[in-house]
Amino acid sequence: MKPIVAVVGRPNVGKSTLFNRLTGKRIAIVEDKPGVTRDRIYSEAEWLNHKFIIIDTGGIEPYSEDIILSQMRRQAQIAIETANVIVFMTDGKEGITHADQEVAEMLRKTNKPVVLAVNKIDDPTKFNNVYEFFNLGIGEPMGISSSLGLGMGDLLDEIVAHF
Ligand code: GDP
Ligand code: MG
Repeated sequence: MKPIVAVVGRPNVGKSTLFNRLTGKRIAIVEDKPGVTRDRIYSEAEWLNHKFIIIDTGGIEPYSEDIILSQMRRQAQIAIETANVIVFMTDGKEGITHADQEVAEMLRKTNKPVVLAVNKIDDPTKFNNVYEFFNLGIGEPMGISSSLGLGMGDLLDEIVAHF
């Protein structure tokens, strides 16, 4: 069995952008039944001879704040149950939100390794935005830019180190 890496985080932080950058081929849009499975996309990825499965846990549509929160809790729960490594993605342009804190609280309780990615760090003027994410209490935040492909090597090194 290949290790499973799940990407969780609130809508619009850039989860799918990261997923698309790290993957070539999509395996499947799992089972077309309502609820848990419909909104997860699995794909194979590889880094330095480590093959793994990456899951994009993105929601169907961002609705209200309440629905986003319950959806995120569910996705974090799925990730905690099924993944070998969890990538928790946040938005370095927006900073820490209430929803981030909720998910962080769930992730702090698992023994699974969590890699904290601060996305949208597109240029050096944004580096300082990364530090506040230490306050989530789940380790060292890694600044990345999924759309520009910055910080991908360091992020992947950190992910595969937990396999
Ligand atoms: P998801 O909802 O978490 O899957 O987020 P998406 O991958 O759909 O991205 C949401 C928005 O953020 C899109 O407009 C992306 O182009 C943008 N985005 C993603 N990654 C970056 C990044 O590294 N920098 C910037 N500036 N925008 C990004
Ligand atoms: Mg998405």
